[in-house]
Amino acid sequence: MSFQVFGIPVSRGVAIGRAVLVASSRLDVAHYFIQSGEADSEIARLGRGRDAVARELQSIKDDLPGDAPQELAALLDVHQMLLHDEALIEAAHHWILERHYNAEWALSAQLEVLARQFDEMDDDYLRERKADLEQVVERILAAMVAQQGKVPAGTAAVVQRDFGGEDPLLLVAADIAPADMMQFKRSVFQGFITDIGGKTSHTAIVARSMDIPAVVGTREASRLIRQDDWVIIDGDAGTVIVNPSPIVLEEYRFRQRQAELERARLARLRHTPAITLDGQRIELHANIELPADAASAVDAGATGVGLFRTEFLFMNRDGDLPGEEEQFEAYRAAVEAMRGMPVTIRTVDVGADKPLERLTIAELRHEHVLNPAMGLRAIRWSLAEPSMFRQQLRAIYRASAFGKVRLLVPMVAHLGELRQIHEVIKRVQQQLTDAGQAFTAVELGVMIEVPAAAVMLPLMLPHVDFISIGTNDLIQYTLAIDRADESVAHLYDPWHPAVLQLIASSIRQAQGVGKSVSVCGEMAGDAAFTDLLLAMGLTSFSMHPSQIPSVKQRILRADMGRLSGLLPPILASGDPQREAELVFRQAVRLH
Ligand code: PEP
Ligand code: MG
Repeated sequence: MSFQVFGIPVSRGVAIGRAVLVASSRLDVAHYFIQSGEADSEIARLGRGRDAVARELQSIKDDLPGDAPQELAALLDVHQMLLHDEALIEAAHHWILERHYNAEWALSAQLEVLARQFDEMDDDYLRERKADLEQVVERILAAMVAQQGKVPAGTAAVVQRDFGGEDPLLLVAADIAPADMMQFKRSVFQGFITDIGGKTSHTAIVARSMDIPAVVGTREASRLIRQDDWVIIDGDAGTVIVNPSPIVLEEYRFRQRQAELERARLARLRHTPAITLDGQRIELHANIELPADAASAVDAGATGVGLFRTEFLFMNRDGDLPGEEEQFEAYRAAVEAMRGMPVTIRTVDVGADKPLERLTIAELRHEHVLNPAMGLRAIRWSLAEPSMFRQQLRAIYRASAFGKVRLLVPMVAHLGELRQIHEVIKRVQQQLTDAGQAFTAVELGVMIEVPAAAVMLPLMLPHVDFISIGTNDLIQYTLAIDRADESVAHLYDPWHPAVLQLIASSIRQAQGVGKSVSVCGEMAGDAAFTDLLLAMGLTSFSMHPSQIPSVKQRILRADMGRLSGLLPPILASGDPQREAELVFRQAVRLH
């Protein structure tokens, strides 16, 4: 049966493929693809797990005291029966042989198929047997873990290997932690669907950086979609179509081909400088998460890195943080890959929806910090961990000997923080000098992402060389809307007058004292905001490399002088989006 699920579009385009469900299990189950030659050994592993549980159940039964309640023995019988039911283990072989899932994943995938069948049963007694089935599966998984010696890391971590499957695969999950999403960067998946998350949650940002269609915040996709269903992701509309009819499928295949043609057309702009019709040169920088991303930044025609989110170097490491040497090598690799173009390295921004531990948004919400977005995040964490902070700064300064490095600090809200940052920098420079380590001048910038910083910018500007406006957080904190919470996603509004006024005044004030200013939040990479930001006088944008061509196309068609004349009524309007559409459309007609 065909049906649709609606969510929040986070990454453009159409993806068509088979659903791969990564269900959350109470046990930490590894999900990875095996090579075809490994199927026999996976099936054998599953068999050994089942045999171990069979022995375990039998010995529990044998040891039951004579006065044990009848029901207990009956329950063990049920468990033994389920354990040997063909619908469980034999059917799990299908996932191993046909879909190349590892044994644990195959078993949990089959559990899910059966659990749904139990849910649909009319008979109460039978429906309740689902819990027994879950217990049996968890016993098998535990036995397999015990046989292997340790729990493989990562609930949602689909470890990637070369995978020879034919159909494109789309990942469906209740929630994916940003750290896990990073692992998918080199993955076989051609699209993502999650139940949880907002447009600028970090999971969504990483999906966007992968430039594949994604829809988040569907609330129930992982419950409604089944393993192996055919699914269309419409990343523009935020719609997921499950088991589409042949006509719908053909329509989306057509759209997919059109999008590819458009992409190829835009790619031809790669070497064209971004200059407006009235001759203003615009810097288009890239946002990267790993040094390896610098290559795609260069390929996309970026003229620098405007935001290197270094926190991703700190994730997926089970608490073992990268030391100075490792960080230095990473920063140097990015700097060298950019061949003399500036690289803006942001100090670690952990916390909020980017915890160091492998936690999903749901886990954060329910079990951990009260309000992580307002907690010990970003510079607050760095200042609370001074030796870690100095280590990172030393690594960044050392990388400056290999190219043009700029230092960017996230979440600054107090002048006191800026003072401390300067003190630490001085100390780090002294340490490097004493150690004979080479470094050059590094410009210091702060992210403007807390409204307090935007409001008191004139007091901050004398202490920094540049600012970078983080619209993702600026919107979150100005409107008091958690950017990762799908239940308030409809209120997360970049067009809100308060947001626009803070952005416009930050740009104006920085330029007024001759300090450079850029925008590195998601607004910078969304072509729907290009004219508006140009109208505000912005000449430096930073975005995912894949977004550079469409923004550049907008810039090539824009007249900055004319746009800036249109700004006052937009900023004065109670409905700036409508006003902007009106005045920009008129301007195009007049032109
Ligand atoms: C922002 O807040 O706009 C930003 C660029 O930083 P991050 O998305 O990493 O919080
Ligand atoms: Mg931010």
